[in-house]
Amino acid sequence: MRTILPDEGEILDIELEESLLEKNRELAVQNQKLLDDHNIRAIDILGAIGSGKTTLIQQMVLHLREKYRIAALAGDLTTTIDADRIQEAGAEVVQINTGKECHLDGHLVAKALKQMDLASLDLMFIENVGNLICPGEFPVGAHQRMVVVSVTEGPYMVVKHPYILAEASVLAVNKKDLAQVMQVDLDQLKKDAGGIRPNMPVIFTNARTGEGVPELIQTLGL
Ligand code: MG
Ligand code: ZN
Repeated sequence: MRTILPDEGEILDIELEESLLEKNRELAVQNQKLLDDHNIRAIDILGAIGSGKTTLIQQMVLHLREKYRIAALAGDLTTTIDADRIQEAGAEVVQINTGKECHLDGHLVAKALKQMDLASLDLMFIENVGNLICPGEFPVGAHQRMVVVSVTEGPYMVVKHPYILAEASVLAVNKKDLAQVMQVDLDQLKKDAGGIRPNMPVIFTNARTGEGVPELIQTLGL
């Protein structure tokens, strides 16, 4: 089989990209410092469109809204659908429309944080734009990363996303009730995850019913 690798002509692009990524990392560090100064714990939530990120956030807000003052940043290209749903559950929400950008970055999150009353918050969920490739390269300053994959995305979502998972605090495998129909082996997904990040907790959830959500909350230490 033939495999194509990047060639030397692309090195200049790579250098430009490196300085961009470096700048983003600095902004992420500043964001985290700002959150720390206000004793806010932030959790970055990554997953493809339709994996169940918003529904899981909604469920967690319903469980935790008596215990913490919660806010959410909802990243999305153009819509406010997710933000509206999370707000209904009882969190203060700032929508970040990224336009054509397929990920949040340190700068966008910094702008959102400036608009919030940080002194009145304890916990922040940051829902990234729905994709599992580039958000991994753009940390936003969160303390923990939760990755969501759904069994409806097929059996290879875990093995195909080693970079994102290598820095995850927890993996939620959502829509577990559909595993059999989708012919996805949950044990195999867990093994795949262990091959990438040996001690990462893997929680099977059904966000619609709330199954697995208490376990997820416990795993995140909330
Ligand atoms: Mg969503
Ligand atoms: Zn992107």
